[in-house]
Amino acid sequence: MIVRDVYELIGNTPLIELRTLPVPANVKVYGKLEMMNPGGSVKDRLGINLIERAIERGDVAPGGTVIEPTAGNTGIGLALACQRFGIRLMTVTPEKFSQEKQALMRLLGATVVNTPTELGMKGAIAHAIELAKEHDAYVPEQFSNPDNPDAYVDILSHELLKDVPQIDVFVAGAGSGGTFTGVAKSLKPLGTKTVVVEPVGSILNGGEPGPHKIEGIGVEKWPPFLKRAYVDAIHTITDEEAFYYVAHLAKQEGLLIGSSSGAAIAACVKEANQLTEGTIVTILPDSAERYLSQGIVKEAEHAYKDSTHSRR
Ligand code: PMP
Repeated sequence: MIVRDVYELIGNTPLIELRTLPVPANVKVYGKLEMMNPGGSVKDRLGINLIERAIERGDVAPGGTVIEPTAGNTGIGLALACQRFGIRLMTVTPEKFSQEKQALMRLLGATVVNTPTELGMKGAIAHAIELAKEHDAYVPEQFSNPDNPDAYVDILSHELLKDVPQIDVFVAGAGSGGTFTGVAKSLKPLGTKTVVVEPVGSILNGGEPGPHKIEGIGVEKWPPFLKRAYVDAIHTITDEEAFYYVAHLAKQEGLLIGSSSGAAIAACVKEANQLTEGTIVTILPDSAERYLSQGIVKEAEHAYKDSTHSRR
């Protein structure tokens, strides 16, 4: 296959059947391998949609500037899209987030501005809005922009349904909530049970906001576009459970996934064990390679040795 342009590689990612999970024999679990996108995550789909819609509306034009608060994957997706349209990109990223993601944003041409970790994503959002006034820039603001869930409504769900026509349960993590909301909107009318995943330290299940090592998911406030009617269940996953499945999939199935994917799989296992048969589909947003400097290998090895989880 010869590809003329990197943008042709966004989407149409493979769906892998996970064969070694501790689930009933007649329950199949599939993971959408979003690390196969050219920017290495599910957010390439978002980057291109945010920029194309903004250009259509006249919010930004080639030669203009976009500023976005992001933990990194959205920034990489936006950097690809901005490069295509000749737009300058500045991202505002709390300093704790993966150095690999920050380095890749810079390599793709973005300027990365760091905000203090203690101020969280709220601090990054506030700083992005200030900077946008200075630079006369457009801020897509993925956390409240309906173009975010819309990026996934048709395309991602069509890809899933093409490979698995009957999806009994759909499971996805929520950071902005865009991926879950977009796909749940398409699948809900088909009778699919839709399950959202968050780390301990996120508030969807009524918990207190707090720190967690799982990166990419977890919210400080309920995402404005995530309608409660789209949510059939919420699983709140510990760091240990997520890192356990990062190690499990690496060692048992040769798959190098990030911690938000590990959390999604932990939730799939909980859902699978409530069924006797059926099909569960989840999104695996990115790869373990993105988190080497965050110590993902040590965390995963540690969780794997923990006998409580290995006996499950
Ligand atoms: N996993 C990872 C690794 C991510 O970067 C993100 C986006 N922050 C998500 C999951 C969650 O995606 P969404 O923002 O669409 O909820």
